[in-house]
Amino acid sequence: MAVHGGKLQLQTGGDGEIVDLTEGVAAIVRTAGVVAGLATVFVAGTTAAVTTMEYEAGAVIDLREALERLAPQGHDYEHNRRNQDTNGHAHVRAAAVGPSVGVPIVAGGLALGVWQQIVLIDFDTRARERTVMVAIVG
Ligand code: ZN
Repeated sequence: MAVHGGKLQLQTGGDGEIVDLTEGVAAIVRTAGVVAGLATVFVAGTTAAVTTMEYEAGAVIDLREALERLAPQGHDYEHNRRNQDTNGHAHVRAAAVGPSVGVPIVAGGLALGVWQQIVLIDFDTRARERTVMVAIVG
C-alpha cells in the first residue's frame, strides 16, 4: 500500500460558487496508477466545502437555495459581531457540508454514480484561490 497525492489549484468567485472537480480528481487518480483504493478529496479552510452532487444547473440552484435557508447571509452571527467579520454564514455552511469526501477507486477509476460529481463549494464573501488536496491510498 502506498499514499499518492495531488493538488488542484483553482480560482473561485466565492458567494456559494460550486465548481465541478471530478475531471481534475480523476486525472490525479489516473496519474497515481492505483487500481483499487480510496481517494480523499479535501479543501483546507473554514469557508469552503467538498461534497458530491448531480452537477446540473437546477440542482446547483436548489443546493445554493437550501444552504441559504440553513444559514441565511443576513442572519446576526456572533462570529461577525466578535470579529468585525462578514462571513459568519460561510463558516456555518462550510462546517455543515464538510471539508472532504472519500471516493473508492475501483478498476483504476472513481466509483462515482452515473450522475454524481465531486464539487467544491466556496461560501466566502469574496473571490478566493483554493487548494484542493487529493490523497490516494491503494
Ligand atoms: Zn470569518
